[in-house]
Amino acid sequence: MSKSRFFSGYYPWRLFRRFFWSQVLVLNLLFLISLGIASFVIDFGFYRTEPLIVMGIYFVLSLLGSAFFAFRFANPLKRVILKALRIANKKQYREVLDEETILEDEPGEYFELEMALDKIRKKLKKRRTQLAQGREESQVLMSSLEDAVISINNDEKILYCNNRFTAQFLSLEQASEVERFTQNVILSAVFREPEILEIFKQTMVTGDTKYASLRIPTLRGGGTRFFSIRVSALREEKTREVYGAMGLFHDITTLKSAEQIRIEFVENASHELRTPLTSVKGFLETLKDDVSQQKMDQLPYFLSVISKNVDRLIDLVNDLMTLSALESHSPLQKSVFVPEAVTLDLVERLATLSAEKQIKISVKSSVPTLDADEAKVEQVLQNLIGNAIKYIQPGGEIQVIWEKLGERVALRVIDNGPGIAEEHLPRLFERFYRIEKGRSRDSGGTGLGLAIAKHIMGSHGGTIAVKSKPLSGSEFICVF
Ligand code: ADP
Repeated sequence: MSKSRFFSGYYPWRLFRRFFWSQVLVLNLLFLISLGIASFVIDFGFYRTEPLIVMGIYFVLSLLGSAFFAFRFANPLKRVILKALRIANKKQYREVLDEETILEDEPGEYFELEMALDKIRKKLKKRRTQLAQGREESQVLMSSLEDAVISINNDEKILYCNNRFTAQFLSLEQASEVERFTQNVILSAVFREPEILEIFKQTMVTGDTKYASLRIPTLRGGGTRFFSIRVSALREEKTREVYGAMGLFHDITTLKSAEQIRIEFVENASHELRTPLTSVKGFLETLKDDVSQQKMDQLPYFLSVISKNVDRLIDLVNDLMTLSALESHSPLQKSVFVPEAVTLDLVERLATLSAEKQIKISVKSSVPTLDADEAKVEQVLQNLIGNAIKYIQPGGEIQVIWEKLGERVALRVIDNGPGIAEEHLPRLFERFYRIEKGRSRDSGGTGLGLAIAKHIMGSHGGTIAVKSKPLSGSEFICVF
C-alpha cells in the first residue's frame, strides 16, 4: 500500500486510538502492580535510585509496543471496513482499494470476512449489471411499442410512460417532469376524461384488469383519436399488494374508420341494390294484374323498365365484384402492349353510345408501349371515357391523350362537359359518391366507376387525379 493511499483514504483511527490507549493503560498498570509485588521479594536498587527514569523508559516502550499492536489490529480492519463501505456504494472509498487485493497473511477471521465481503460485492455487481440490462431492454421495448404506456402509483402520480405516451398526451412541462422521475405529474392533470381516471382507480381498488374504448384528444399526432385502453394492477413482488396501475393505450382510429367505411359501404350497396329491385317488383306486380285483366297496352313499356332495372342490377353486381376482386389484391397480369391500340379498340366499341349523342372522341399517343395489366387499363379507360360520354352534353368532345411524363406514362381524358364543382372533387373517387344521383342512375351509373379506376391505378403503383371547374369541362389524369 503506497503512502499516499495510506493517508488519502479512510483509516479506523478511533479503533486504533482505543486499542492503543487501552494497551498503554494495561501495560503500565501491570508493570506497576508486578513491580510492587516483586519489590517485597527482590530489592530493585536501580528503581529506588532512579524511579522516574525507569518508569519513563517503560512508558515510552509501552507506547511503541501499543502503537505496533494497535496498527497490526486496525490495519486489516481498515480493509474490511473499506470493502463494506464500497459495497454500500460510497463513491469516495471506491478508488482506495484495488479490485482483487486480499491479504492472505492476515489472521484467519479477517481473511474470511474479507472473502465474504468480496463475494457479496461480486454478486451485487452481477445483479446490478443484470438489472441495468433488464431496464435497458424494457426501455427499448417500451419505446418501440406502437401503443402508449403509462404506469402510476396509488396516489395517481406518474411513475413511468413511454415515448409514444409522452408524444401524444403530455405537455412539454409534464414530459420533462416525468423524464426526471419527480413523480410530480398526476393522472388527472393529463386526462380530463372521468372514464379514464375511473378505470385506473377501479383497477387499483379491485386489482383486476379493466378495459375501455374511448375517444381521447391528443396533443400531437392527429386531434381526437379512438383508443382501446387496458389497465392492469402493479403488485409488490413479495406481498402481492397493489402499488399502482399500468395502462396500455392502443390506437384503433384506423380500425374504427375502416369499420365505419365498411358499414357505410354495406348500407350504400344494399340501398343501391334495393332501388332497382323494388322497381322490378312493383312493375311485375302491375304487370301481373294487367295480364290477368287482359290489359296489354302498357306491356312493352313495363317490360322495358324491368329490363333496364335488371341491367342496372347486373352492372351493380359486376362493379361490386370487380371492386372486391381488386380489394383482394389478386396479382396483376402484366404485359407489354400498345396503349393507343387498346384505346382505339375501346372507342370503336363505344361508337354506338357516342354516336347517339354526336360526341367526337379523338385519341393521341406518344407512348409506344406500356407495361401494365391490359384488361385493367382498359377498364380504367372504359370508366373514364364512359363517364365523359354519360355526363357531357350532346355534340361535346372528348380527347384521350397518352404521353410520356419523364420516366412515367400519363393518360389524360379531357372533355368539354359540364365540369364538377370544387366541393365534390375530394370525394369523387369514393365508392358510391355521385354528384347528381338521379342523373347518374338514369345514365346507368353505379357510383363505383371512379373508385374502381382509383383502385386499379393504386395496384399499378400509380395515381389518378381530376382537374375540373363547373362549365369548363373535366380532365382526369392517370399516371402509371
Ligand atoms: P357513376 O357510375 O355515377 O358515373 P363514377 O364513380 O364513375 O360513378 O363517377 C362519380 C361521379 O362523378 C358521377 O356520378 C358524376 O357525377 C361525376 N363525374 C364523373 N365523370 C364526370 C365527367 N367527365 N364530367 C362530369 N362529372 C363527372
